[in-house]
Amino acid sequence: MILLGPPGVGKGTQGVLLADVHGMSRIVTGDLLRSARAEGTPLGLEAQRYMDAGELVPDGVMNALVKECLESVPDGRGVVFDGFPRTDVQATALQGTLEELGRAIDHVIVLEAENDVLVRRIAGRRSCPECGCVFNVYSNSAEQEGLCDRDQSPLVHRADDEPETVRRRLEIYHELTEPLIAFYEQSDVSVSYVPGDQAVEDAQSAIRSVILLMTPHDPSEDA
Ligand code: ADP
Repeated sequence: MILLGPPGVGKGTQGVLLADVHGMSRIVTGDLLRSARAEGTPLGLEAQRYMDAGELVPDGVMNALVKECLESVPDGRGVVFDGFPRTDVQATALQGTLEELGRAIDHVIVLEAENDVLVRRIAGRRSCPECGCVFNVYSNSAEQEGLCDRDQSPLVHRADDEPETVRRRLEIYHELTEPLIAFYEQSDVSVSYVPGDQAVEDAQSAIRSVILLMTPHDPSEDA
């Protein structure tokens, strides 16, 4: 399943909940790059300058990273993609890797919200560097201020969540990533649209409903 949408629309928050409920793995390219950066690996060092400027890390780097990740997912286990693919080159590479592995995309869920909602949200966003949980000081605050509800790690405000970088990330989203919606609409993948400017639990139930609706019914499971 691919969660597609602009920065700040709630892909991370919804992805964690979905993966928990369906027992799926998450491939979150932003988190992978942030851990590589924290560990100081060559990939992390290369990625840093792009991320800090709000630019995309080159496709070749991203495609190799995701391929490696996908190959380590056990057969038959579902995957939620968050932050990938972001360009047509990445989308095409993903199709190729999935074919090689005998797998396919079942759903693309497009989360949508206006730019001004996103900018405000990102300003209030605080994330857990350990588990990837995302909170918001305006709408979805942590139970104990500044600490992750799951593992009590101190929450951080990402450097690339500063307003100027956010504007650049939004521009890039509209220019390079949004056209992927048409790419998937033209393929035989189910594409569903869910408003991202609603409460976390409402967006989550909307996503679960569209998944149920789009999943073919297997009568043998009724017994
Ligand atoms: P958001 O979805 O809020 O923009 P992410 O955590 O997904 O944030 O991404 C943070 C940064 O990591 C991006 O601005 C970009 O520099 C880099 N990045 C993440 N995923 C990709 C990708 N698929 N292709 C290129 N760069 C990526």
